[in-house]
Amino acid sequence: MQTDFSVNLNDLESTGIIECPYCGKGKAYIYGTTGMQSSGCSVCKRIVLWDFDNKTAYKASAKKFAS
Ligand SMILES: [Zn+2]
Repeated sequence: MQTDFSVNLNDLESTGIIECPYCGKGKAYIYGTTGMQSSGCSVCKRIVLWDFDNKTAYKASAKKFAS
């Protein structure tokens, strides 16, 4: 396993796209993923809960992390 291996996303077949519920500009590309993930929108930086099963995104409130 190479440690510097990087994935060319263009080589993957995207099975769907979810748009950011806040700005509609940020997008999450689905590659056969299931389940949900919370991450910041790449455009507006707000926390989004991406639901890959239903191809839907929800507005989520950020947890407080101690850093
Ligand atoms: Zn956004």
